[in-house]
Amino acid sequence: MDNIKVSDLLEFLDSIAPFRLQESYDNSGLLIGSEEAKISGVITALDMTEDVIDEAIEKQCNVVVAHHPIIFSGLKRITGKTYVERAVIKAIKNDINLIAIHTNLDNVLQSGVNERIAKRLGLTDLRILSPKEDKNTDIGSGIIGFLPEPVNKNELLRLIKTKLACTAIKYTHNNDDNYQKIAICGGSGSFLLDTAKKQKADCFITSDFKYHEFFDAENEIMICDIGHYETEQFTATLLQELIQEKFSTFAAHCTKAITNPVNYYF
Ligand SMILES: [Zn+2]
Repeated sequence: MDNIKVSDLLEFLDSIAPFRLQESYDNSGLLIGSEEAKISGVITALDMTEDVIDEAIEKQCNVVVAHHPIIFSGLKRITGKTYVERAVIKAIKNDINLIAIHTNLDNVLQSGVNERIAKRLGLTDLRILSPKEDKNTDIGSGIIGFLPEPVNKNELLRLIKTKLACTAIKYTHNNDDNYQKIAICGGSGSFLLDTAKKQKADCFITSDFKYHEFFDAENEIMICDIGHYETEQFTATLLQELIQEKFSTFAAHCTKAITNPVNYYF
């Protein structure tokens, strides 16, 4: 199958994580470009920053598939004053097609953002943490599963730091020093804390907890906030692997750019 078009890629991505499953506030799908464009190559990334678009131009890839949509809440002018406007201008000027696969990829059990994190930690018996409906429990937010055997706090923290390649972990205490049932939500997951507690998770790995929200753990669950980029950094590789496995007529590269805007100073 030569001459793969952007529409073919969109159809494939929809078969993995249907775009209709995205949250109402989201903006997943083709953001810039044309469904009719023939694909010369793909760069996958977490964010569609200018660096990533530069890399696409350099590698002669005319498609960027990223998790976070760079156009999110609407654009009223495009004058290059913000990083969003500059990325948009660069993509259009260079005929780069931008595709976002965001909350729809968060909301699937298989081949989604959270399954990738869970597998890195070696969790089994994976289920959606908060299913959207009672009938279809394979769609919804977060994931929950079990470590092969219980570990203590230090073992768990070490496992998370190593397997999820994070620089720092913000965590709360759990009265019980036995951790086996682990809940996960890539990205901002504090809205799932109650669900994780109700499901008796020993630990909840996510990011973007606010100071006062950490108190809500009430020593019943260990919250591990490892950083937004850190939870979702494996999504770029996930997308690259899925796309490359399906299409052999063009190359799919995972970006070399580290798009995390946050640095740590110790
Ligand atoms: Zn995110």
